[in-house]
Amino acid sequence: MSTSPASDRHIQLNPFGQLRHFLSIDGLDRNLLTEILDTADSFIEVGERSIKKVPLLRGRTVVNLFFEASTRTRSTFELAAKRLSADVLNLDISTSATSKGESLSDTLLNLEAMASDMFVVRHAQSGAPHFIAQSVTPGVAIINAGDGRHAHPTQAMLDMLTIRQHKGRFEGLVVAIVGDILHSRVARSQVRALLTLGAEEVRIVGPNTLLPRDAETLGVKIHNDMRSGLRDADVVIMLRLQRERMEGALLPSEREFYRQYGLTTEKLAYARPDAIVMHPGPINRGVEIESAVADGPQSVILNQVTNGIAVRMAVMSMAMSGQLAERQAAAETQASK
Ligand code: ASP
Repeated sequence: MSTSPASDRHIQLNPFGQLRHFLSIDGLDRNLLTEILDTADSFIEVGERSIKKVPLLRGRTVVNLFFEASTRTRSTFELAAKRLSADVLNLDISTSATSKGESLSDTLLNLEAMASDMFVVRHAQSGAPHFIAQSVTPGVAIINAGDGRHAHPTQAMLDMLTIRQHKGRFEGLVVAIVGDILHSRVARSQVRALLTLGAEEVRIVGPNTLLPRDAETLGVKIHNDMRSGLRDADVVIMLRLQRERMEGALLPSEREFYRQYGLTTEKLAYARPDAIVMHPGPINRGVEIESAVADGPQSVILNQVTNGIAVRMAVMSMAMSGQLAERQAAAETQASK
């Protein structure tokens, strides 16, 4: 399914400009992204309480619909929904009727019949969450938890929260995203979020075979060399080689990739001394990152995971209240007729 920033804006926002689905960073402006970060900030404190709950989604049902494997994303969405006091259903697709041939639309119709309020969707097909958002009953919110190579907007926003916590701003920052950009939905969403929030320079660094063909249109600087790509960077984001999405041989060998692009202490020294190192996980030690760096003082990789809960709480509560505001306005219009 093809999407554009204008159509993404239209489908994601209600008539009052509030979030009602969260499918992509495209089409969302700086104010809205900042509101997500500020809301997430306010939820961080909830995770530090002895009773880690707020009642914002009490009585609501959230269905985690993961058609692709996930560890961090699925579990942090589940924790986020539970901390918002929602009832959560985790649908294991490998044991569900989908594996018996049921279509996506039929699975959804059945789940909607159980009066669900929100679907968190991960799917190997780019555009699947958009398709669902267009066909779902009004009032049900759809959150994209990663679709194909297209987008992973909550990952991008938890990365933005982590950057803001450590750097205090986006203006003036140089961010290098390194590795398999071609297959990375994370990189696409990060680039959009960084540019929207005002980062000075976003670089993508990797061999040409792992850079997207439309790289020049993304508003980033392209580097094939780690020395120039990391020079004076404030933030270094490493990505995994996404072998499950690769068609054909795009790399000479993992060893050669590591030699050229693996983040080692020596290569990290090209960046600013106070640069932070990030990775969306799962990390492959010795393939794209050395253990000394992944576990080292500049790494904020585990902070990213913690921030995932607060960001997912923010997005879920904002989308639900956007849906409710729209429902209420529709009911009032109906009543006044
Ligand atoms: N966890 C991220 C994703 O789902 C990154 C990765 O898998 O490498 O896209």
